[in-house]
Amino acid sequence: MASVPAGPLVILGAGYAGLTVAQQVSRKLRGQVPIILVDRTPVHVLRTQLYEIGKLAEAGPDVRAWTVPLAQVLDRRGVEFRLGSVESIDLSARTVHLDSGEQRFGYLAVCLGSVASYYGVPGASEHTFQVYRLSGAQKLATQLLAIERASATLAGERRPRIAVVGGGSTGTELAAEIATTDWPRLAGPTTRSPDVFLLTGALPFLAGFPPRLIAHAREILRSAGVQMIAGWNVTRVEPGRVTLEDGTVLPCDAAVWCAGLEAPPAVKALDAPHGKGGRLAVEPTLELPGHPGVFAVGDVIEFRDPATGMLVPGTAQAALAEARVAAANLVARIRGEPMAAFTYRERGVVVALGLGQAAGSVRRVTIWGSPAALLKRLVARDYARAAEKGDTPNLI
Ligand SMILES: Cc1cc2nc3c(=O)[nH]c(=O)nc-3n(C[C@H](O)[C@H](O)[C@H](O)COP(=O)(O)OP(=O)(O)OC[C@H]3O[C@@H](n4cnc5c(N)ncnc54)[C@H](O)[C@@H]3O)c2cc1C
Repeated sequence: MASVPAGPLVILGAGYAGLTVAQQVSRKLRGQVPIILVDRTPVHVLRTQLYEIGKLAEAGPDVRAWTVPLAQVLDRRGVEFRLGSVESIDLSARTVHLDSGEQRFGYLAVCLGSVASYYGVPGASEHTFQVYRLSGAQKLATQLLAIERASATLAGERRPRIAVVGGGSTGTELAAEIATTDWPRLAGPTTRSPDVFLLTGALPFLAGFPPRLIAHAREILRSAGVQMIAGWNVTRVEPGRVTLEDGTVLPCDAAVWCAGLEAPPAVKALDAPHGKGGRLAVEPTLELPGHPGVFAVGDVIEFRDPATGMLVPGTAQAALAEARVAAANLVARIRGEPMAAFTYRERGVVVALGLGQAAGSVRRVTIWGSPAALLKRLVARDYARAAEKGDTPNLI
């Protein structure tokens, strides 16, 4: 087995992947190798809940319900936290360049997640909101509240118009949430609730999800008043309007980009094999080819499961499963023991559809309505509680 120079294990990113790697490795190694977890914020963000835009609007700056303080969790595990933003990673010099200085490593886990991909659409990055980061979701919540507060002054009977771009699970959950939030309670009794448009683009709506789940989701969205516009991608975004491939211009008071993700810049720039969107192509052990002791986990990787031939989805559920295998393999690497291959088995999926509604598929059984919403809430609550205690539960 190839040898690895001595040095700490450095984990970049304290999201679902990074936090789980830190927890699992520290439990197995019990102080044998120093562990340093790096993130640009001092909290673990519950990113799977960032569609909860009405609750975010109500919470204002108090985002405790969407975060877990890292210091509290890591102290118990003997993991050191280093605050800093990763600017670049030098694999040959085994050094990470942070905005707060340099960090040398012996072993590395790259868990930096993903960023919005705008596919070169003019105006998309400048004139749309996004909920992929907590700061982005907060900005959207603040803006929606301002739009709603001003809605009573709109000409005639006009309502605010919100365009959500992207017919995957994030766009769907967000559109449903905006359409079903009780805006008059939050913004005042004269408020006019918005018209919400879900622009699903050229890809099929909820592509890759089970057909029965899709049928229920469509029906629930329709009852929530979400108007779906399918078939054409967005080609331009300007302040106050979105243009589609067929020339349709949709005037809107705010547009939200939920159309796709790619690897963060520091990951795209890595001297290593890449897949779609700059994601890292890893060995079945989740190690980077040619870089012993360097692993990548979560949204940053593109992984085709050798057992099924399918690409593993970019989900927190997959990130947690990968993190467990990467942690075991890191320990094996450190101890000079054989490593195991990652294979993925999905536990289920549930898409939240606003107002206590959801549609899901768990162990091939379709669930919908309030039982699906309850399941989603319980799973998210259990994850947050366990993460606070420094535990690593499952998630769907
Ligand atoms: C609205 C929404 C709903 C979702 N719902 C679900 C769901 O129901 N189920 C599900 O399984 N998945 C869901 N997902 C997907 C899931 O959130 C991601 O797949 C998951 O977050 C990936 O985990 P990760 O650890 O790879 O990345 P992340 O959780 O994004 O963590 C990345 C970490 O890296 C840090 N970081 C990034 N760049 C830098 C840098 N340059 N320097 C320092 N730190 C940095 C970030 O601060 C973050 O802490 C949802 C996503 C969204 C946006």
